[in-house]
Amino acid sequence: MRYKVIVVLLFVFLFSGHVFSQAVSTPNRSVTKLSDKLYVIRHKDAPDGYPQGNTTVIIGDKKVIVVDACYLPSSAREDIEFIKKLTRKPVDYLINTHWHADHQQGNPEYLKAFPDIKIIARKETAEEIMAFENKDLARYRQNLDSLKIKVKNGKNGDGKPLAVADLANMKELAAGQDSVENELLNYTPVYPNIIISGGIDLDIGDQVVKLMCMAPVHTLGDLMLFLPDQKILITGDVLVYPIPYFFGGAYPYSGVKVLETIDQMDVKTFVPGHGEVLNNKIYLEQEIDLIKNVISLVEAEVYKEGLLGIKLENVQRAIDLGTYKKQFSNGIKENEVFFDESISKGLVEGCFNGMAK
Ligand SMILES: [Zn+2]
Ligand SMILES: [Zn+2]
Repeated sequence: MRYKVIVVLLFVFLFSGHVFSQAVSTPNRSVTKLSDKLYVIRHKDAPDGYPQGNTTVIIGDKKVIVVDACYLPSSAREDIEFIKKLTRKPVDYLINTHWHADHQQGNPEYLKAFPDIKIIARKETAEEIMAFENKDLARYRQNLDSLKIKVKNGKNGDGKPLAVADLANMKELAAGQDSVENELLNYTPVYPNIIISGGIDLDIGDQVVKLMCMAPVHTLGDLMLFLPDQKILITGDVLVYPIPYFFGGAYPYSGVKVLETIDQMDVKTFVPGHGEVLNNKIYLEQEIDLIKNVISLVEAEVYKEGLLGIKLENVQRAIDLGTYKKQFSNGIKENEVFFDESISKGLVEGCFNGMAK
């Protein structure tokens, strides 16, 4: 699943102008201050085009919480320097909202900086991090090697010569991947050391932070944080702006129920896993509407022929999501490409697989 994300994001990275604030790519690091005690860091995309999850810093009177450790260790170090300027207290808790590398690959940097840190995740997340980390790094190297061969030969995988512009883009990409690979050369993963299987409250002095374990939306181990006093919900990739993440399918059936539950909660501010902080429920409700409609469209298509007789590719081809594509893409080309992969393919696949269960 991760490979699919990389391919799309690389496309977006190479072909986007990096000028739109509502685009899926993020050209610059920025910090949103929600209060004196709450900051959201958006990271610049990595040189290999991979996005980095948002990091949230919650400073309590007694304890400090950081939510997600982003993708590049160097970016995590930059965040740690920033956090040290905000507070003299050490970070007590680091939360991994889910297992994807862009939310936890900075874990080792936090452990180095704050040796007593407690890294909290759900059981499913901890298991996935342990199972996939090394395999993913090996696959990264393989992909890079094959890209370098294409650049060296000036030919695509099928032996056809590459267009000048494509070759230039691939060279840029190979250089970006090289720099990430060098950064991860001696990388040793650090795993969560507090595993939870249900919701817990963290008392950080002046407020209680609720860790919520609900049904799967983005991964099996999605973990969200609710700050009831401030009516803030930190969602990880359960909510991603401006295009939801459904690469490889994810969990639309249980997901839409979770999103509806969130919609009923007293939340004023959403901190998504990627993209800008949202100050209302408009986007959440647009996503609920999208998922519900795609579920019915897929079901209608499948019922025409029966689940055993129909192929996923045919369902994906038959369903027209043009109106939604327009609504979510805001006229930005890279968002359209992303929508095609994540929604027209991914979400439809998720609904299709969900029906088979
Ligand atoms: Zn992410
Ligand atoms: Zn993710």
